[in-house]
Amino acid sequence: MIDYIISGRSKKEGLHSDNYNKGFDSRKIKIDDGIHYCNNCNHTWSKVAAYVDSSRWRKYPEGNIPILGKKRIECPGCKTLRKGRNDNY
Ligand SMILES: [Zn+2]
Repeated sequence: MIDYIISGRSKKEGLHSDNYNKGFDSRKIKIDDGIHYCNNCNHTWSKVAAYVDSSRWRKYPEGNIPILGKKRIECPGCKTLRKGRNDNY
């Protein structure tokens, strides 16, 4: 009787941790997919929701995220800077 209770409980816990890991992995991949690398300022960046940052994008600290495999896209910050410089010419 006691054996039955213990095995029943551990089986439930195993299922729970499986579901937790699956959810964590898919979230991690989703975030990583949206990260781009800016050749201009050598920073990784990604678009974020307006409630995270009012400018709708966020620059990550250097060396925080591996650059390998990231799409090389100029960040909105450099784009705006370049635009402003061009306007002065
Ligand atoms: Zn940049």
